Amino acid sequence: MKYLSTRGNAYAEKSYSAITKGLADDGGLFLPGEIPELDIEEVCAENLSYTDLAHVVLKAYLSDYGEDTLKECIKGAYSKSFNNKKVTPIVKLDNQNYVLELWHGPTAAFKDVALQLLPHLIVEGKKKLGLDEETLILVATSGDTGKAALEGFKDVKGTSVLCFYPKDGVAPLQEIQMNTQQGENVHVVSVEGNFDDTQTGVKNIFSDSANIEKLRQMGKAFSSANSINFGRLCPQIVYYFSAYCQLVLAGEIAIGEQIDVVVPTGNFGNILAGWYAKKMGVPIGKLICASNKNNILTEFLSSGTYDANRELHKTVSPSMDILISSNLERLLFEALGRNALETKSLMEQLKKEGRYSLEADAQNRIRMDFEGGYASEDDTMKAIKEVWDKYNYLVDTHTAVAFSVSEKTPSNGNKRILVSTANPYKFPGSVLRALGIEADADDFKNIEALENFTDTKAPRSISALKQAKTRHNMTAAKDKMAEAMYKVLKK
Ligand SMILES: *Cc1c(COP(=O)(O)O)cnc(C)c1O
Repeated sequence: MKYLSTRGNAYAEKSYSAITKGLADDGGLFLPGEIPELDIEEVCAENLSYTDLAHVVLKAYLSDYGEDTLKECIKGAYSKSFNNKKVTPIVKLDNQNYVLELWHGPTAAFKDVALQLLPHLIVEGKKKLGLDEETLILVATSGDTGKAALEGFKDVKGTSVLCFYPKDGVAPLQEIQMNTQQGENVHVVSVEGNFDDTQTGVKNIFSDSANIEKLRQMGKAFSSANSINFGRLCPQIVYYFSAYCQLVLAGEIAIGEQIDVVVPTGNFGNILAGWYAKKMGVPIGKLICASNKNNILTEFLSSGTYDANRELHKTVSPSMDILISSNLERLLFEALGRNALETKSLMEQLKKEGRYSLEADAQNRIRMDFEGGYASEDDTMKAIKEVWDKYNYLVDTHTAVAFSVSEKTPSNGNKRILVSTANPYKFPGSVLRALGIEADADDFKNIEALENFTDTKAPRSISALKQAKTRHNMTAAKDKMAEAMYKVLKK
């Protein structure tokens, strides 16, 4: 399989090269030269384990790795670190609604599904490319990505991770998760500034040729674990296959019957993986894109204009507080008939003017597969309470956005899968408040209160944080992030 850049059709890279590089040299995103198709009936009939299913789906994209190498990578990612045998289990709420739980990995959020596999793909990719420098993964995080990257890359040979987060811009438990991170090759630094400052700082480090040269002399090279990497996207396609087959095998749907999926969306990675699954042959009708108060995608899907000239709201679903959904570029490229020049020009317009509009044809192509909706802060909190009262099922603030949007989206008769992206115990304060209980400033007290009230249990990885030792406590001014990097690397 050849990989192309969204901004220049001339590219033809192997999958391991696209994944190891992360971003194409022309600034575009890599995507597969064609979308492979699988026979869903055959795939489901075999009742495969998650790892075997992952192999069937992923070898269609990553055959350059070689069958055995790919199998080893998949085994390394999923055979031990998820606390559910199905890895991404389906939970039935009623005859119409099913939840796909994506948070059974080590950090209790869905980013584990991709970030448990990506390090293996990068390590093997480097071997194939004959690169022997150490890969330094730089991450700017508003919470979930940072922890999932630290967990995924910890003690992976030939790599190290440095994670920057805004001092006052992550949830308390997320900060504890990062600062207690184990592993010999992991570093965490908080930044005196907001998420934008942090992300800008990381981008500046990445693009400074003096830094690149200095690191080269230290035997290191930068890479990114951000969701613009196709290696983050393809592992997510697998769970849409798994979800569909689980429903078929449980007798909930007939093979071939269409289902809809509702996906709480920020950077458009998760829902785009669903679109790939649909194109590969999973009978998905509509992909319903659920946004929080930052409803730029809802507007885009209805008007065809993407307009980032607005204020970013801080919400109770912080992992979806995003104005530039980078993965949308891949969908644009497809909707424009794989026209790299037009895609490039839209992206340049977005950078310069903060907005662009799509022509009617491309809009219609997107609307055949996608529908959008959003939840206000109030809607989100109400949804947590309603879902709990109705189904005795506890959802986090991100999943609640999907429930609220699903409620507002008229049914077309298809059964729905609501994609659940985080365990509710990652955001215990907000969830408690939604249930009408006063929350404490101390999240460990909130966890206890939530356990008592709902008679459910926090995952071990979260409750164990109470005893965990702080291992990282460096803080950097926002214009001193590079200095902080050299300091931790020398330690
Ligand atoms: C990252 C994240 C999202 C958004 O996913 P995208 O792939 O960026 O659209 C939603 N919920 C949670 C809990 C997340 O961590």
